[in-house]
Amino acid sequence: MGDTATETAWLSRSLGRSLARAWGVGEGMGRMALDLCFPPHCPSCRVPVGAAGNLCAGCYGKLQHIAAPYCSCCGVPFALAFEEGLCGGCIAESPPYTQARALWVYNEVSRPLVTRIKFHDQTTLVPRYGVALARAGQAVLADAELLVPVPLHWRRLLARRYNQAALIAHAVGRASGLPVLTQALVRHRFTRPQTGLKRAERQKNVHRAFAVAESMKARMEKKRIVLIDDVMTTGATVHACVEALMKAGAAEVRVLTLARTGKE
Ligand SMILES: [Zn+2]
Ligand SMILES: [Zn+2]
Repeated sequence: MGDTATETAWLSRSLGRSLARAWGVGEGMGRMALDLCFPPHCPSCRVPVGAAGNLCAGCYGKLQHIAAPYCSCCGVPFALAFEEGLCGGCIAESPPYTQARALWVYNEVSRPLVTRIKFHDQTTLVPRYGVALARAGQAVLADAELLVPVPLHWRRLLARRYNQAALIAHAVGRASGLPVLTQALVRHRFTRPQTGLKRAERQKNVHRAFAVAESMKARMEKKRIVLIDDVMTTGATVHACVEALMKAGAAEVRVLTLARTGKE
C-alpha cells in the first residue's frame, strides 16, 4: 500500500537507467530523454514544469504554507500578525484534541495536490509531503508515541485500493521515526462523502462512525497519539476519530493534516 510512491520513483529511475544503457549515455541523459517523452507537470494545475514535483510559477505564488501566527489549539492561521492564543472557534467550543497543525491552507492550489493522492493514484510526491508535514508539525510530533491515520470504510478501501491518510501517515512515520498503526481505528459505518455537506450534516454523517478495534485498545491506552488525515475542513471527521481514540483510553490526541481550511 505505502509502496506505490516508492515503486513509481523506482520505475522512473530504472526507466532512465534502461534508456541510458540502450543509448549508451549517462543516467542523467536517460532521465532527460524520459522527461522529453513524458515532460514533468505542475502537480496542481498540470502545466509543464522544469522538474518533476515542482509547482509552476503561478501555483507557487498561491500555495499558502501555514506559518505563525496561528491558533495555538486548532492551528487556523490568524489574519493579523499580532494575534496570538486561541481563535474564536476554540474559545467558543474546545476541540477534543490538544493541538492540530497543517502544512497548507486548503485552497485552489493545495486542493488538487490532496485530491490527486486520493482519486488519481498520484502518490509519487507523498514522501516529500511527509517530510514537509513532519517539519511543519515538529511541536505536535515532539513527544508523541503513535501515528494513527483516519481510516476508510472497507468498501471504499476495496474500491480505491489504498487509504490516502495511511500513505501520508507512513511518510510522516518515516520522516519522524514514529510507529504507524493503520489498523487502530475502524470506520464501522459506511458514510457518504463529506464534500458538499454543511457543518451540522457533516457532524451527523460521521457521528459514531469510528471506533478503536478491540484488539488495539491496549496499545492506545495512556498514549500520546497523532491522528493523520489529508485535509481538515469543519473538523467533523477529525473530531469523531479523536473522540473514539480518547474513549479507548488515549492520554492525548493531536492532529496533523496536509491541508486545512483557512477559517472555521
Ligand atoms: Zn501549477
Ligand atoms: Zn482554534
